[in-house]
Amino acid sequence: MIKIKANTEIYTQKNKRMAIFKCSCGANILIVPDLIEMDKAINTHIIEHKRLTGQRLKEEIIIELILKTIVEYQS
Ligand SMILES: [Zn+2]
Repeated sequence: MIKIKANTEIYTQKNKRMAIFKCSCGANILIVPDLIEMDKAINTHIIEHKRLTGQRLKEEIIIELILKTIVEYQS
């Protein structure tokens, strides 16, 4: 019981440190403080999103949604 509780706390703490963008297609994109890595993740997801949904996701839209996620995460 104690062990489960401890694990839950670690998990919560980890979640607090990381912002995750949940896309409408169901994919989770980890928001990292590295702009080059983030750009790579966005471009990879645009391709993945089209493969999953058949819809083209605009880079400006995904960036806007990620920024909203960051704002929500910080508040
Ligand atoms: Zn998507």
